Amino acid sequence: MATTKFKNAGSAETNPVENKVRKEIRVKVGPPGIARIVFLNSDGTEANSVKQFVNLSESDSFVDGKIVPNVYRAGNKIRLKVFFNKPGTYSFTVKCEPLDSNAQYTAGELARNPRFAYQKEQKSYTTGSDGSLALPLDDFFVGAAGNDKYVFRATDTRGVTVSTGILEVHRLIYYVELKMHSLTSCASSLALVEQVYAKHQIKLVKLPAVEMAYMPNIGYDDTETFETNARSAYSKSLAVEKQPHAVAIAYTGHLAVKQKNFRVRKSAAVGPGSAPVLITIAAEPDASGSIPEPYFLWHGLEPGERWFVSARFIKAGGSTVDAISIPVEKCTPLASNSAIPQQPNAVRIDVSALPLAIGKIYLVVNIVDRMRGGISFSGGNLICVCTKAWWSPFAPKTQNEVIIHELGHKMGMAANGSGKLPDKTVSWYDDAKGHRGNHCFYGLSATQARYDSDADLDGSKCVMYGATNDRSDFCLNCVPAVQKVDLSDGWDPF
Ligand SMILES: [Zn+2]
Ligand SMILES: [Zn+2]
Repeated sequence: MATTKFKNAGSAETNPVENKVRKEIRVKVGPPGIARIVFLNSDGTEANSVKQFVNLSESDSFVDGKIVPNVYRAGNKIRLKVFFNKPGTYSFTVKCEPLDSNAQYTAGELARNPRFAYQKEQKSYTTGSDGSLALPLDDFFVGAAGNDKYVFRATDTRGVTVSTGILEVHRLIYYVELKMHSLTSCASSLALVEQVYAKHQIKLVKLPAVEMAYMPNIGYDDTETFETNARSAYSKSLAVEKQPHAVAIAYTGHLAVKQKNFRVRKSAAVGPGSAPVLITIAAEPDASGSIPEPYFLWHGLEPGERWFVSARFIKAGGSTVDAISIPVEKCTPLASNSAIPQQPNAVRIDVSALPLAIGKIYLVVNIVDRMRGGISFSGGNLICVCTKAWWSPFAPKTQNEVIIHELGHKMGMAANGSGKLPDKTVSWYDDAKGHRGNHCFYGLSATQARYDSDADLDGSKCVMYGATNDRSDFCLNCVPAVQKVDLSDGWDPF
């Protein structure tokens, strides 16, 4: 027993050869197999999880090293590479898998715009002799929807699967502000605009602002001059290098629209000693007898403006040959609220210099048809926001809301579901039901004939409603659309 136990202990003289025997440690190497699938960076390094800016093209002009770290993060085509654990040529398959939370495009949407789709098909490959393969660029692409996530899986012939990290879909748009010389009422920050779009994975990147010529108001007649002035400023901005993914945001004073030659009449007794005649600028009472809201005179909006067109008096029973002109000096614009004298909606006429008579005064004036908060100019990358409305400053927050709305139009929000755009939402309406263009009535009943009453304004709950309603966010119906929308075409310069 004891002898057995110490059998190999040996003595000082014994060479204890048996104790030196080591068990050979062998690294067990299995058969060749798939090791990993990764996203590639443009410098050849590997990335595990990435943010992909799918609307951009694969161009260095969109790479800043931070937001877009390298050119392979731009575009909807995905650069992938697969590695095996040993050199040699091996077969494998790759599949792109969307996460369940991704946007669900309808069949109609997918039929209208191929950029809505991701590469669904599994593809088969063989590695190069080094046991790796960079997949052909055109093979895998992802959809347009912001916040969508994908994982790419590669499987070898033994059934072993490896996966990338998450690819998250983002969009990026540059903006440049065109600020009119000496216009001090522009919002100093568009942080709200940036925040609202960031929620939907649309990154708005601000470029240095440029100055343009001052225009106090832009009405229909001024549009061409405005665009010329804006273009001259824009052409000197960095936005030119970021086309077609750049939008110009111009600020102006008012965006009032003039209605020329508005006619009002009033019965009056005129002549020496007669009291001045007060004429409210409103349409004639309608069939129900209710008097429409008065209009404001075209006053205090632009230099050299003319609110007065003509005033005449015709005696009872007389005709136009009997008309007596009343000069502008006898006509004084009057505000209904003396605290806001810039808002005249009536005219006081001194009739004491006319011959004594009873008859009617016929007054023709230019009036404010309406005030617009902003404009999205069609067919280009220009939007415009007012910084004044109804002769008062437009709050910076409201300017932000208007920009969110007008940018929404640029991106195809409240779209009618045609062309490359997402489907029409259930709260969509157009001019036929009020306002100008396509908008969203979320918050109001789907059965209304119109959506442009004062009560509608209070009830509306989406930034894409047709009038400024103090909302900054997209509604539940518009959120899927702003996520789904394909921004890859960008915009032509205006
Ligand atoms: Zn609109
Ligand atoms: Zn909406």
